[in-house]
Amino acid sequence: MSVLSKSPWIIHYDGSSCNGCDIEVLASLMPRYDVERFGVINTGNPKHADILLLTGSINEQNKPVVQNIYNQMPNPKVVIAVGICATSGGVFRECYNVLGGADKVVPVDVYAPSCPIRPEALIDAVVKALGILEKKKAASLAEEVKK
Ligand code: SF4
Repeated sequence: MSVLSKSPWIIHYDGSSCNGCDIEVLASLMPRYDVERFGVINTGNPKHADILLLTGSINEQNKPVVQNIYNQMPNPKVVIAVGICATSGGVFRECYNVLGGADKVVPVDVYAPSCPIRPEALIDAVVKALGILEKKKAASLAEEVKK
């Protein structure tokens, strides 16, 4: 039995990118893929989000923003690095101000490398993230019971 009481809500943040992956994220919300039909909501409020979906690479300017979003999300939470830029820095890796992928500033649970990500791969990554979120939730409930 699932310990998750609702479908995941996602917050999406784009770091330093070409926006190709962001267009694919939008495509997954459009009628062809329509992830909202499963109750998955794209929220703008980190306090309502279970999953942080990061596209683009991390640079000095967006580093505190990403950390701020992550820190505002309630536990348990899951981070997905979407596209090769968020996975490793990608094509921006050698830029003077780029630190690398999302895992340079927040713990990443799911890596979904591609350039750009396809909606099918993105949905697959969200399903994988759901499994991790469920395990984290079960672990935190077990901790609560022990107290
Ligand atoms: S992975 Fe490719 S498509 Fe996605 S943001 Fe980077 S360069 Fe653009």
